[in-house]
Amino acid sequence: MRRGAPRCSGGYEMNIPDLLEIAVAWKRAARPTDEEQEKADARVSICNGCEHKAFREFLHIYVCDACGCPLNKKIYSPRGPEACPKNKWHI
Ligand code: SF4
Repeated sequence: MRRGAPRCSGGYEMNIPDLLEIAVAWKRAARPTDEEQEKADARVSICNGCEHKAFREFLHIYVCDACGCPLNKKIYSPRGPEACPKNKWHI
């Protein structure tokens, strides 16, 4: 399978690296370092202006509808800009 942005939603296959990335992102979201928080803040400001940011009523969370990931965790991905499926992140 091609390595790309994490695939969090149903209908997509996830592999071990994807699951590890998600686990690290959730851990960082719970207790970020100053550097991780700074990066997350920069990413969320990009997501806030993106047409792929979508609210999921039943979960009461915002997700990236390009990959299905919850944005409040995705922004803490340990990967670089390539974690954004539409190549909009620069950090
Ligand atoms: S495509 Fe990228 S910038 Fe847009 S919501 Fe998804 S992660 Fe954020």
